[in-house]
Amino acid sequence: MSIQQPEAIADLKEKIATSTRILVRERLIGPFGHPSARIPGTDLVAVLGHTHDDVKDLAETDPDDVVIMDLDGEVVEGSMEAPGERFMHTEIYRARPDVGAVIHAHPMHCIAFSMTDVPLAPVWHLCTLFADGVPVYDSAVQIDDPERGRAVAAAMGDRKGILLKGHGLTVVGSSIEEATVSAVNLERSARLQIMAQGLGPVAAIDPTELTEELLTDGLTLEEYTHTQWDYWAVELAR
Ligand SMILES: [Zn+2]
Repeated sequence: MSIQQPEAIADLKEKIATSTRILVRERLIGPFGHPSARIPGTDLVAVLGHTHDDVKDLAETDPDDVVIMDLDGEVVEGSMEAPGERFMHTEIYRARPDVGAVIHAHPMHCIAFSMTDVPLAPVWHLCTLFADGVPVYDSAVQIDDPERGRAVAAAMGDRKGILLKGHGLTVVGSSIEEATVSAVNLERSARLQIMAQGLGPVAAIDPTELTEELLTDGLTLEEYTHTQWDYWAVELAR
């Protein structure tokens, strides 16, 4: 797919709009926060535009709210600016050829973990993609230049996500659907861990059970992802 293939890009923009509406409904993003996806085969990224200048309700996000930028953060197609923290996206795409999508969000329960030394643990079976750990980027500043973007990418390494101290989270996936599902599940897992800690000591899931086969009941990661994505997309249409 290239920038010359409008149908494929239109499909990607539609998925980013759907991702945004899911993330709003799950309270991962409000006026701030943004999903993006790499346009396969290019050095271009489709990203939710800088919509809050217009105080737009993100629950009504549509494909026209998505812009295309290059890896320097310059908009090459679209009617609005890219988000201020676009460099977190661009530098992760530069560092991680395996990454097809990035979600940056500010959900409360994950942010609570970023304020403490208590690690987000694999406590919930729908969240064991993060069993390698979720590191914390030790700064609350906005990631609004390439140097900070590179620092976040380096701190995340080859993991699926990272918390930003007193700020939010960034989650990656091979597709926009996978990154969205993973981000929602990480926030739900953070909430569950906080709830459980109120009841007593929390035990993480046994590492020997942390295999994709055991935890997805034979589904591939793609099938597992789409089962949730499709369900949530149907919910949005109600
Ligand atoms: Zn942010």
